[in-house]
Amino acid sequence: MQLISGKAVSADIRQDLAEKTVEFNRQFGRVPALAVIIVGDDPASHTYVNNKIKGCAQVGFRSICQKYENGTPQEEIAAYIRSLAEDDGVDGILVQLPLPKGYDEKYLLSLIPDSKDVDGFSPTNTGLLSMNMPNTVSCTPLGVMHLLASTGVELAGKDAVVIGRSNTVGKPMAMLLLNANCTVTVCHSKTKDLASYTRKADVVVVAIGRPKFLKGDMVKDGAVVIDVGINRVDGKLVGDVDFEEVAPKCSFITPVPGGVGPMTITMLLANTLSAAKNRLS
Ligand code: NAP
Repeated sequence: MQLISGKAVSADIRQDLAEKTVEFNRQFGRVPALAVIIVGDDPASHTYVNNKIKGCAQVGFRSICQKYENGTPQEEIAAYIRSLAEDDGVDGILVQLPLPKGYDEKYLLSLIPDSKDVDGFSPTNTGLLSMNMPNTVSCTPLGVMHLLASTGVELAGKDAVVIGRSNTVGKPMAMLLLNANCTVTVCHSKTKDLASYTRKADVVVVAIGRPKFLKGDMVKDGAVVIDVGINRVDGKLVGDVDFEEVAPKCSFITPVPGGVGPMTITMLLANTLSAAKNRLS
């Protein structure tokens, strides 16, 4: 069994992004800029936003962080997003999700132009991915593809199972694997006898938010297992995979923490650089 180190893959990509940022600055006279909007005081969301801002600094981007108190009128936030949309100096706009109750997530996200949708959540960017014409792809599944590439395992022709069908993780993950010529099965909470699918899979990606859901008897020998889950159990981070049981059977597996997690923000940074290049060149 070999561990796939998201930390190591992520560090290499960030190094490359930092070098490309220097080149971008030379060419366009400024660095890429990412604007992040956060509403409310959810501690996990604030941690994610702080890490995004730190990530920007690490690769040399400019970042703008706008914090709103829960209860701020939605139209005030909408007006700010519209101003960022029109600002030529801003390349990426991100609204940290989930928003507190009472805000219309779809409406606020719809104000972000496709060209600045660095989360890859817009209907257009989602549709382009499903047509195998990817523009900006959702960060977490994109990060998983980099982790899979780092193993050197050829994906074409492999049986892949994705557990979870959210619009932000499971579905784009399935599309990316399909675009990579895997035969893809998507399982979810209504799937009957889920283990009958995972037991046949060469690649299993679990993204459901259920601690230690995937057990040893649910995977075949030599499988590649990617654990997207982040669950806090007794103050500890635990994935969706029962690592102790599953790892001995795998050819490759991601740990939690240190697997998929570090890749997500790195992909956000990569998407921001691409968005900046696409807009300016
Ligand atoms: P989500 O929107 O809550 O979706 C969960 C999906 O899992 C749903 O499709 C649900 O099925 C399915 N599901 C739930 N329980 C299940 C079960 N017992 N058996 C089979 N399927 C089940 O969650 P998400 O946003 O996709 O995130 C999933 C996990 O990934 C969470 O732990 C989240 O924290 C983590 N995550 C990690 C990163 C990272 O950077 N590492 C990024 C994003 C998310 P239904 O559709 O039938 O309800």
